[in-house]
Amino acid sequence: MARILTGLKPTGEITLGNYIGAIKQMITYQEKYDSFIFVADLHALTIPQDPSLLKSRIKSFIAMYIACGIDPAKNTIYIQSENPYIPAISYLLECHTSYGEASRMIQFKEKSRQNRNFSVGLLTYPILMASDILYCDADFVPVGIDQKQHVELARNIAERFNNRYENTFVVPEVLISEAGTKIKDLKDPTKKMSKSESNPQGVISMFDSPIDITSKIMKATTDSDNVIKFDEENKPGISNLMNILSVIDNISLNEIEEMFKGKGYGEFKKYVALKVSNHIKKIQDRYEKIINSKELDDILNKGREKSINLAKEKYQLMCEKLGTIR
Ligand code: ATP
Ligand code: MG
Repeated sequence: MARILTGLKPTGEITLGNYIGAIKQMITYQEKYDSFIFVADLHALTIPQDPSLLKSRIKSFIAMYIACGIDPAKNTIYIQSENPYIPAISYLLECHTSYGEASRMIQFKEKSRQNRNFSVGLLTYPILMASDILYCDADFVPVGIDQKQHVELARNIAERFNNRYENTFVVPEVLISEAGTKIKDLKDPTKKMSKSESNPQGVISMFDSPIDITSKIMKATTDSDNVIKFDEENKPGISNLMNILSVIDNISLNEIEEMFKGKGYGEFKKYVALKVSNHIKKIQDRYEKIINSKELDDILNKGREKSINLAKEKYQLMCEKLGTIR
């Protein structure tokens, strides 16, 4: 069975965008792939984090994955930092990556421009991501377009290592999620919804109350046509709400247009708000049952063991090839 892997950084609360664009995709994939899903807490450290907040978020992310429908029987679920071989492999990969290659990453260029006092971790983080992917021989990595370049870097490093030292890694394929699953910020629908966004009004968290969700959707930025029609270029706000409704309610964009023919934005938004609130409330109820359960620790222990075994084996293979062995 081909292997697929995904990870989310605990840099904020899981958003509706993460749910639709990453978690829900993994729920579909878990039926036909050997699925790995983890919390990428080491990736969160490229910028300063509040330690106690980070600690509580790590477990909360795992509980939320499961509450959303990630099946522990079909997934290897783990916390990145609990596997010390991942950063060890990352270092070995760093030594096979040129500075020029790493500094050409678009995200590095953008983020290092925003904060001149950036950490070296910001430069090396795509190589840590390569380690996340390569240690377990993932065949597929589903990512948003923003991460495509990083998976390509992982491919290049894998090919280089394989060429120099013979077959060591599976060369991973990028799986770009389908159009329509990139959820936009509700206040500024020209940019994507992000969990590290500072204005919470544009972002729906999976922990928001029905009242907050309703208020955010009712205040979402739209055009003034008052026509419910899918047109991402000219009507990004309405199209975004249509995308959200379509995924949450399992209904096509055409059906939504039909349903709201001749109706106004107020009525449409109220409907979207109700559906999204109900959907998220059900997930939150499941979350409450999981977050403090012993089952959660059992799942994490099992995931840690499997992940460490695989990474240890890969690390030792690399060391043999490199000659760093007694
Ligand atoms: P940050 O702001 O810290 O970068 P983020 O919300 O972008 O957080 P990531 O941890 O970077 O989340 O990404 C986790 C996964 O969620 C990735 O697979 C990414 O493609 C997906 N994702 C993130 N934001 C969206 C979005 N708005 N719509 C759809 N998918 C998204
Ligand atoms: Mg991101």
